[in-house]
Amino acid sequence: MSFLAGKRALIVGVATDRSIAWGIAQAMHREGATLALSYANDKFKERVEPLADTLAALTLPLDVSRDEEIAAAFAFLAKEWGSLDILVHAVAFAPREALAGSFVENTSREAFQVAHDVSSYSLTALTRGALPLMAGRAGAVLTLTYLGAVRSLPSYNVMGLAKASLEANVRFLAADLGPRGIRVNGISAGPIKTLAAAGIGGFRKMLGRVAAAAPLRRNVTLEDVGNAAAFLCSDLAAGITGEITYVDAGFNTVGMSFPEDEAP
Ligand code: NAD
Repeated sequence: MSFLAGKRALIVGVATDRSIAWGIAQAMHREGATLALSYANDKFKERVEPLADTLAALTLPLDVSRDEEIAAAFAFLAKEWGSLDILVHAVAFAPREALAGSFVENTSREAFQVAHDVSSYSLTALTRGALPLMAGRAGAVLTLTYLGAVRSLPSYNVMGLAKASLEANVRFLAADLGPRGIRVNGISAGPIKTLAAAGIGGFRKMLGRVAAAAPLRRNVTLEDVGNAAAFLCSDLAAGITGEITYVDAGFNTVGMSFPEDEAP
């Protein structure tokens, strides 16, 4: 197929080989894209570089909460590539104590600010940085969100608010950049066991609930999300922008479900 042949993609958010961003990198590589993978700090550099080597990808440091690192990252890509077609934003963070227990008791001003800065504002900042490199090209920006943006869920707490902001970010960026031919979309993924997910209280139980209730009766995989991401960032999706696409085995579409042995 190779429907991403000739495209250059910056993927922000690979931490381990369980990262959703890694699933996306593999799918995009398979479809012919040339990749650059960023790592958040020196701790992740050692993990990301060997993964990048397997896809012949460039690597670069990028802490999305630091404006100077964002500027340096796009200056690096301008020098290496001169242009960019795809930006993948698969980054989120909130202090651990805010991701369990009572929402009202555990949401401090600082946790609120950090969650929104790293998980939502960074999409605006990265997209702004990418614009000069996407000029005159059919650019595509993609971010990762979760059901907690639109429904309350145990433990997700302040991250739900940050994801609601992120989804609005997708719509405002899409409106702003559509006239320039740049598309902006989000994937709302079902739960997947990753480093970030491990910080959410009771995450394992969430996996079990989804597998029991989702129409497909399973959780989604890195391949499921990676394939949808590759499609949304390709010219096959040229008419799609400002959308949140659910890749969650259908879980978000179910209003009520019963365990098999209690089915009516
Ligand atoms: P992950 O831990 O593998 O990835 C999170 C990434 O965010 C890491 O690479 C980490 O280095 C990066 N990050 C955090 N702070 C950063 C900063 N200041 N600068 C740069 N990078 C920073 O976990 P994941 O589950 O693959 O998360 C990727 C995205 O997918 C997140 O937006 C997450 O909310 C979203 N998501 C995850 C799930 C899930 O169940 N795992 C479901 C839906 C959406």
